[in-house]
Amino acid sequence: MASCSKCNKNKAVFADRQSGLAMCPACFAQLFEKKVWKANRDFQMLRRGDKIAVAISGGKDSAAMLHVLNKMAKKIGKIQLIPVLVDEGIVGYRPTCITAAKKLCKKEGLKLVVFTFKKLFGATLDNMIKQRKKLPPSKQPGACSICGVFRKKALALAVSRLGANKLAVGHNLDDLAQTFLMNLLRNEPARIERMGTGAGKANAIEKGAEGAFRIRPLIYNPERECAAYSFLEALPHCSSECPYSTEAFRGDVRDFLNSLEEKRPSTKKNLLDAWLFFGASRNGKKPVEKKCSKCGGPASSNLCKACEFMPQLKL
Ligand code: SF4
Ligand code: ZN
Ligand code: ZN
Repeated sequence: MASCSKCNKNKAVFADRQSGLAMCPACFAQLFEKKVWKANRDFQMLRRGDKIAVAISGGKDSAAMLHVLNKMAKKIGKIQLIPVLVDEGIVGYRPTCITAAKKLCKKEGLKLVVFTFKKLFGATLDNMIKQRKKLPPSKQPGACSICGVFRKKALALAVSRLGANKLAVGHNLDDLAQTFLMNLLRNEPARIERMGTGAGKANAIEKGAEGAFRIRPLIYNPERECAAYSFLEALPHCSSECPYSTEAFRGDVRDFLNSLEEKRPSTKKNLLDAWLFFGASRNGKKPVEKKCSKCGGPASSNLCKACEFMPQLKL
C-alpha cells in the first residue's frame, strides 16, 4: 500500500472503501475515535457522573468500544466504567473469550465483573439447548433466540446490581444495519420501534430493559474498522466463533449485506440512516411499554420472552 493519504508521511495500512482514503495506523485510529466522539455528540451518550456498565464479550467490537470509552471517560472526567461479561456457558467457546476479556480489562486498568447463566437462571446455555430438543421441532426456539433473551435479562440484572445508570453495548454499524433488515424481513415493526432510536437523533439512545439507558458508541463504526482498530491497537480479543452461530438468521443477512456492500458501497450506512429516520419521524412518541406479569420486566405481551422460555426449558 502507498503512503497515508492524510499525513503523507507513514505507510498506509487501512483503505477506507467509502472515501477511498488509505491511512497509517495513527491517522486511522484518529478517524475511528472521531466517529465515536461524533456518536457521543449526536446521541448525548456520556455525561459526567455516569456509572456505565460496559458489556464485554471478549470479541473485537467490545474490545474497541472499551478502549475508546476508557479514553473518553478520562477526558470528560467523573465517569465510572464497569466492564461486564455474561458467561452463557458455551463449552469450547466462552472460556477463551473470558481469558481475552480479562487481559483486555487488565490492560485498561479496569476490573471485569462476570455474571453467569448458571448462577442467574440455574442452567448454562448448553443445558438449555439440550432441554430445547425435548420440545416438538416446530416449538423449538433457535439457540440465538434463547441466548439473546437470557443475555438481555442477565445484563438487566447486572446493571441493577451494579447500580449503573447506563449500559454500553458494542453494536457496530453492520450489526445495526443487519438487525434493522432482519426485523423488516420478519415483518416485526414492533421490534424496530424497540430498537431504540428514541425520539429522534438527539435522544437516540434506548431506555432499555434494565431501566438504564442503553448506549451504542460504535453506531457509526463499520465492523471492518472495529476489527482493524482492535488489531492495530493490539487489544486482546478472541476470534473464535460460537458453535451455535451457524443457526443464526443473522449470518445469512450479514453475508447478503456484505456482498451488496461490495457492489454498492454505503448500503449499510443507508440502512442505518433509514432506521434513524424512522426513529426521528416518530416525533418523540415512544412505543407503549408493557410489563411482564411474572417478573415485571419489559414485555411485548403478557409475559416477557425469558418467562415464556423458562417453563419450556424446565428452568
Ligand atoms: Fe449466543 Fe447465538 Fe451469539 Fe452464540 S452466536 S453467542 S448462541 S447469540
Ligand atoms: Zn497518517
Ligand atoms: Zn418476565
